[in-house]
Amino acid sequence: METTNQIIEELKQQALAFNKKFTGEKIGTVMEVADGVVKISGLADVMSSEMVEFEHGEIGLVLNLEETSVGAIVLGSDELIKEGQKVKQTGKILSIPVSEQMIGRVVNPLGQPIDDLGPIKANTYQSIEKIAPGVITRKSVNQPLQTGIKAIDAMVPIGRGQRELIIGDRQTGKTAVAVDTILNQKGQNVICIYVSIGQKESKVARLVEQLRQSGAMDYTIVVSAGVSEAAAYSYIAPYAGAAIGEYFMEKGKDALVIYDDLSKHAVAYRQISLILRRPPGREAYPGDVFYLHSRLLERAAKLDDKFGGGSLTALPIIETQAGDSSAYIPTNVISITDGQIYLETDLFYRGIRPAINAGLSVSRVGGSAQTKAMKKVSGRLRVDLAQFRELESFTQFGSDLDEKTKAQIERGRRATELLKQPQYQPMLMEEQVATLYALNEGFYDEIALDKVKAYEQSLLTYLRDQDKTALALIAKEKNLTDEVTTALDKALKSHQQMFLRENK
Ligand code: ATP
Ligand code: MG
Repeated sequence: METTNQIIEELKQQALAFNKKFTGEKIGTVMEVADGVVKISGLADVMSSEMVEFEHGEIGLVLNLEETSVGAIVLGSDELIKEGQKVKQTGKILSIPVSEQMIGRVVNPLGQPIDDLGPIKANTYQSIEKIAPGVITRKSVNQPLQTGIKAIDAMVPIGRGQRELIIGDRQTGKTAVAVDTILNQKGQNVICIYVSIGQKESKVARLVEQLRQSGAMDYTIVVSAGVSEAAAYSYIAPYAGAAIGEYFMEKGKDALVIYDDLSKHAVAYRQISLILRRPPGREAYPGDVFYLHSRLLERAAKLDDKFGGGSLTALPIIETQAGDSSAYIPTNVISITDGQIYLETDLFYRGIRPAINAGLSVSRVGGSAQTKAMKKVSGRLRVDLAQFRELESFTQFGSDLDEKTKAQIERGRRATELLKQPQYQPMLMEEQVATLYALNEGFYDEIALDKVKAYEQSLLTYLRDQDKTALALIAKEKNLTDEVTTALDKALKSHQQMFLRENK
């Protein structure tokens, strides 16, 4: 009897000592670890997206809540994590440090600098998962986010707070559209966040170099989850980008976030889910991948003035296979966004770059943010291009076309030519308006097709250097008032004479 009591007492002491060691802490045990994914038992009340800490200080992110265990992904190396080790619950949703100091920097998805430019002082911590702003705090999109790309600003205009998808096969210029959009934000008071997901590190380095040279890093943050890193990094990268964007939006600023690309994000999530042995759904993606992307994109918003008036615009990118936009991930993201910019391999190789399919590309909300001037010139452009697309196929058969049809085809060809635009040369709104106005007014009709670009260049130089009133007026009025059109007509006519004289 005596010995039994002794044993009980001894056990009690041990239990107390154990409890003391971990007061208030919830401790679980590693059951299994593979490819950066850990199964943990004993964490009964852990939350999804909560951080857990392993014995050697590694951080894990809880993803899967099951009856007797939870699944977590390791953010970093899982080398030292072994079966039987203890896991500490933190009670905190994964958050990353954010601050203005991040501008100009390249960080990993945990907000840590990876560019050798020294530490970044955190202002605050921002949770990577957040409920999107509710309807009451939002305002409808009313301010343009100009890309500087004529075909987009004219026909698929984007507004601040909008979500516009950039979709196309590999090597169709998807990243180029995003990068030009960043370059065009110079002086526009928009903080840009470029999130690179699963791309080669060398590619990202080149992109950062390009941004630096163009002075765009002065207002840009790059979040990079490299292809050689764990899938966990690719998985959280877009959320980190959104969290940084929200930080600025909540301060009343305008931010733009680019997710390049969400196809790779979905693949990373599929990989993690397969290791967690979640049941695979369509195309082997777990069923909640739709929810994952909708939750992410819902965070783009234009806040009401009462809530600071900030905005977060999102440009997610999706890579299609052989133009198949009806695959699972593309259809998901198409249905979540406010429109899409379709890029096509076929157009790209015909030299139409940016390779935007004007017929399939739409923007459902950006029109209300477009300037009146742009709206006026682009309406006509749209009609001309649509007619041209219809007529184009006929021209292959006969030359028996009436004058009107011929003229329509010639106009369409010139419009197509004019919408070609080299990389890294975004154009100002007033310049776009002037050149499209000239097209609508027939100034290009007498110019040979192979001279169209030269004519445009000559016109822009003329308007910038010689007859500056027209551009200044468009920029000021943002509308085609009588005053504006009078100045524009005058400038276009004198340029026309000059050009024809010089190119006789
Ligand atoms: P990936 O699928 O590899 O990510 P992507 O669709 O993002 O490719 P980019 O890398 O942007 O495509 O562009 C592909 C190539 O086309 C690059 O060499 C780029 O320089 C060129 N390119 C893109 N846009 C234009 C343009 N407007 N004019 C001329 N060249 C362009
Ligand atoms: Mg790309």
